[in-house]
Amino acid sequence: MTLLYEGKAKQLFTTDDDNVLRLMYKNDATAFNGEKHDVLDGKGQLNNAISALFFDVLETEGVRTHFIKKISDTEQLVRPTEIIPLEVVVRNITAGSLARRLGWEEGKTLSEPIVEWYYKDDALGDPLVNDDHIAALGIAKEEELEEMRKRALHVNNILLELCRKANLLLVDFKLEFGLQEDGTLLLADEVSPDTCRFWDAQTKEKMDKDLYRYGLGSLQAGYENILSRIGGVVHD
Ligand code: UDP
Repeated sequence: MTLLYEGKAKQLFTTDDDNVLRLMYKNDATAFNGEKHDVLDGKGQLNNAISALFFDVLETEGVRTHFIKKISDTEQLVRPTEIIPLEVVVRNITAGSLARRLGWEEGKTLSEPIVEWYYKDDALGDPLVNDDHIAALGIAKEEELEEMRKRALHVNNILLELCRKANLLLVDFKLEFGLQEDGTLLLADEVSPDTCRFWDAQTKEKMDKDLYRYGLGSLQAGYENILSRIGGVVHD
């Protein structure tokens, strides 16, 4: 099977079916645009399990995603899409680059979720862009942007409810969308603690990739905790 694409945390392979790709979650952890890099045992299987569980719930709630099914500890089958080069970030609580950019303290609940767009370009460090920049870059049509915003907020509502039951705060997260050959828009990439910030609802303890980014503790312990709270297991 041919390796189609290799990212920082995943590899994408062809299968013998043109309509199905195999996505493999690696143990690599990276932060700060690749400046920090480590291989963390068990990370791939934790993200595969968590992402599969989230995609399952999202599909059940009517969100169209690229996810087909989990096939092993580290692999899932997905539908091929052409990724739109935008990171769609939704925020419920101030943290990370939002807090830094606006000089806000971390941990303030926003009265309404904030949606942001970042242009996916490693060489530029994924800059924040607005609708006009996106139109000028020719990345997405106005209707597609509107649709992605609507779907991102729908995903937020579903994940907020799931997190509430798991005693977790969903601080913020990043989504990526892709287009199928016929133009159908699907939620793609992954939904995991690599791409979402989760805090314990009471102690505000961080349980996501910030553990690794800022050397706050064991990434695997945080991810295992999230997986068990949302009712998932590593081995099916
Ligand atoms: N995020 C991501 N990939 C990126 C940048 C951000 O998955 O390349 C996620 C990040 O994990 C967080 C959210 O998007 O859940 C918002 O990240 P932020 O803009 O605060 O950036 P950071 O502080 O991580 O630099």
